[in-house]
Amino acid sequence: MNKLVYSFNEGKAAMKDLLGGKGANLAEMSNIGLPVPPGFTISTKACNMYYEKGQEIWSELLNEIFEKLSELENKTNKKFGDKNNPLLVSVRSGAKFSMPGMMDTILNLGLNNDTVEAIHKITGNERFAYDSYRRFIQMFGDVVMSIEKYKFDSVLESVKEAKKAKYDTDLDAEALKEVVLKYKSLYKNEIRSEFPEEPKEQLVLAVEAVFRSWNNERAKIYRKINGIPDDLGTAVNVQSMVFGNMGDDSGTGVAFTRNPATGEKKLFGEFLINAQGEDVVAGIRTPQSIEKLKEVMPEIYDQFVQAADLLENHYKDMQDIEFTIEKGKLYMLQTRNGKRTAFSAVRAAVEMVEEGKISKEEAIMRIEPSQLDQLLHPTFEENALKAAKSIAKGLPASPGAASGKIYFTAEAAVEASKKGEKVILVRQETSPEDIEGMIEAQGILTARGGMTSHAAVVARGMGKCCVAGCEAIKVYEENKKFIIDGKAYVEGEYISIDGGTGNVYEGIIKTHEPEMSGHFGKLMEWADEVRKLKVRTNADTPKDAAQAVKFGAEGIGLCRTEHMFFDEARIPAVREMIIADNIEQRKAALEKILPMQREDFIGIFEAMGDRPVTIRLLDPPLHEFLPHDDGDIIDLANEMKVEHEKLKARVEELKEFNPMLGHRGCRLAITYPEIAEMQTRAIIEAAIQVKKEKGIDVKPEIMVPLVGDVKELAFLKEVATKLADELINDSGIDLKYMYGTMIEVPRATLVADEIAKDAEFFSFGTNDLTQMTYGFSRDDAGKFIKDYMDKKIFDKDPFQAIDRKGVGKLMKMAVELGRKERPNIKLGICGEHGGEPTSVEFCHDIGLDYVSCSPYRVPIARLSAAQAAIKG
Ligand code: PEP
Ligand code: MG
Repeated sequence: MNKLVYSFNEGKAAMKDLLGGKGANLAEMSNIGLPVPPGFTISTKACNMYYEKGQEIWSELLNEIFEKLSELENKTNKKFGDKNNPLLVSVRSGAKFSMPGMMDTILNLGLNNDTVEAIHKITGNERFAYDSYRRFIQMFGDVVMSIEKYKFDSVLESVKEAKKAKYDTDLDAEALKEVVLKYKSLYKNEIRSEFPEEPKEQLVLAVEAVFRSWNNERAKIYRKINGIPDDLGTAVNVQSMVFGNMGDDSGTGVAFTRNPATGEKKLFGEFLINAQGEDVVAGIRTPQSIEKLKEVMPEIYDQFVQAADLLENHYKDMQDIEFTIEKGKLYMLQTRNGKRTAFSAVRAAVEMVEEGKISKEEAIMRIEPSQLDQLLHPTFEENALKAAKSIAKGLPASPGAASGKIYFTAEAAVEASKKGEKVILVRQETSPEDIEGMIEAQGILTARGGMTSHAAVVARGMGKCCVAGCEAIKVYEENKKFIIDGKAYVEGEYISIDGGTGNVYEGIIKTHEPEMSGHFGKLMEWADEVRKLKVRTNADTPKDAAQAVKFGAEGIGLCRTEHMFFDEARIPAVREMIIADNIEQRKAALEKILPMQREDFIGIFEAMGDRPVTIRLLDPPLHEFLPHDDGDIIDLANEMKVEHEKLKARVEELKEFNPMLGHRGCRLAITYPEIAEMQTRAIIEAAIQVKKEKGIDVKPEIMVPLVGDVKELAFLKEVATKLADELINDSGIDLKYMYGTMIEVPRATLVADEIAKDAEFFSFGTNDLTQMTYGFSRDDAGKFIKDYMDKKIFDKDPFQAIDRKGVGKLMKMAVELGRKERPNIKLGICGEHGGEPTSVEFCHDIGLDYVSCSPYRVPIARLSAAQAAIKG
């Protein structure tokens, strides 16, 4: 038989295709014995047939609907249109996937001039009866018959005005009767027929409207964006109404099976006696805590506790339940998995494993990795945030929340911080010279730059909150102010920024400090048991390295040595090296830098113990280390005792049109091999010293950046390994080190087999690889990627989540070619993607050995890697 309509007790959760998500859940609740107001579901198949038949309702379907309707009448002992005991129903759409944009709910269908009076008598509340009636006419007129809502609103407003009523609730029953009459005449004017008084006619029109709403523009667009097929169709749920406002033996409420803020295993919710659901939401009366129900209605409370337990055990997850009590009888109206904070999610998942409800794997899968940010950074207090004024929105570059006084330069920020002020550093964009200001600041706000801009990368590394690329602000550094929408914010004024959302606020907002709970640690242990990928960190200082180890890092995947070159104490020697006229001068300058670099590496090796440490040779273009404007050049020339013209000429000479594609990475070391030599010496001597003095089995890995041709790598290998081997030989100790390369130039992925001949490891630099694959400048793309997202050209920013189709394909090819040439080659990633959950999953899928990310993203990567392994 071609069955099209199912009563709730004929369905089950697994029938989502046919009954839609809502219908299947209502059926499931009914079948596990919970008191659900009875009803039936018209299947998605009926919806599809409706379209096949040219949008006509056909008699077989009507017969089936009416058959289920009379079953419903029998079950409820009520009758459609009955003058004494009328059946009223709600009608809701419900596709397989929850789809905003589909038809809104219609409540109280079945009301007409007779049944409204019956409801008046049953409830003893005339105002309620007519308020329900006028709402029903409005919902029906708007949702089913497409009469614009404002037309109903203006009728209501005119009656309110005439009655001098401020709120809807000020209208009495008589006034509402007048509204009903006026609504009906509006209906007649618009539709050219009377408002349907016959409940069956109301029902059929409503069912058709649900079917039609499957193909309204909003729904079509939603499906397109979310990849939901057009041929699924929607189901229609028809359910008998229950009323919580039938006296003091009735009520309504909402409750969670566990605390959605803390995860504590204790019912959490509230209820109102003699009220309807919307009274709870409207906040006119203050609801009571669910525990009070125990005193007011002890039996109902016990029933509810049992039902809540049953639902949680059944769905094996924290439930968010809506219920109504009608004349001393409890009804469950809805259940769904409850929305929760990260704290609550982690605690609930871990405790459910301990209670034997779910497996460790299920617990791991249940936590959204990016949610863990909430556990690692300060967040704004919820109430304080509600009261705050948001003034702009930029990119959520590095999570956390911070308030402080605005300062526009690193120097001013440092000075203010020394005086004990809290600082937000606001810059057009940051550059390496701003490091100290960034360290001192509570948070960083930039007007330009994307998710891999300097500010974003450095802030993430520090675990400091950052909003980047906030184009709405115009920064006037020299005037010490920025302007948003014509309003100026000056130095010393307070602002607050949320690096998790990108929001910028006026004034101070209170924050919470994060606490690492035992539950969190346990979840991480379980994640470590299942994951295949190792998780390393990108860290340039012993402090960051130590922090990352606390978060579970198993090594350093990227130590950017340029950080060390920018240090204020070292910059004179670095500049000497750059402006040197000949190799002797340069070597002399490098001699000064060597002991400093060695000290850095000693600190890092000690912090990392026997974990592997990948140190990358110098990467950024040299001119970044030189002063930019004339005044600074003169100062520096005096300081260094060189002619200022000569220095100026050198600065000019070093300037590039496209520094990102210019003289950086291994290209620098090919021009000046002595730099690579000095760095190699510093690394190996540091390793030897730590091993000798501390007995730590250090594992240095020397990494060459920006290689596109194996000959680049081979040339530098000759320089580096010759020296390294000599040093080790002379030291008389056994020290193993590795020599490898970043894979971040597209050509390198194409010839990865050749490159693997000279590289013991590859580390994908997906920041540069994305830049060069798309041809999008890392520094400028922030300006237009937003438009790409708005226009749905991109779902995700490719600098945040790996573009699997393009960049990912190149990576995959490099993995295959690399392994073909050198089967035991070690493969990792150190671009920003290494801490982004979907990218981590991709890295697992293509068989990398490890991901590396900033310290504060290490736990996120551990969990993402575990989830990828479980997905298989
Ligand atoms: C990369 O390009 O992905 C990378 C890690 O290097 P950097 O960001 O320092 O260029
Ligand atoms: Mg790079």
